[in-house]
Amino acid sequence: MDDCIFCKIVAGKIPAKKLGENEGAIAFPDIKPEMPVHILVIPKRHLASLDEVGDGTVMAPVFALAAQVAREQGLDKTGWRAVINTGRDANQVVLHVHLHVFGGRRMSWPPG
Ligand code: AMP
Ligand code: ZN
Repeated sequence: MDDCIFCKIVAGKIPAKKLGENEGAIAFPDIKPEMPVHILVIPKRHLASLDEVGDGTVMAPVFALAAQVAREQGLDKTGWRAVINTGRDANQVVLHVHLHVFGGRRMSWPPG
């Protein structure tokens, strides 16, 4: 998708510090971190949101890479949270499906 900011990161047209990569996904820090650890993991293939995800195979590399980067940050010792905002009520802003990895401090539940 030409006008998608995350597709541009996948293509290397917008800089991002790559924290990990596998065959179908890349991970990079969120530009506006909300937590001590705040990493985004995205599929290389453009899908606007989980509403378009179909059988879910595109997400397998995303989950695998999320667990890998969380481990590399030491979060397997303390716990972490994976969030995929989907659509208006969840405040999804970037229309390329992305998983937030949050960690580094105790979190509250439920979300607001
Ligand atoms: P969401 O509300 O789930 O759509 O979140 C989109 C996230 O993308 C926000 O946390 C933004 O800070 C983040 N973001 C937007 N542009 C960039 C960028 N160029 N590099 C890294 N993170 C970004
Ligand atoms: Zn995209």
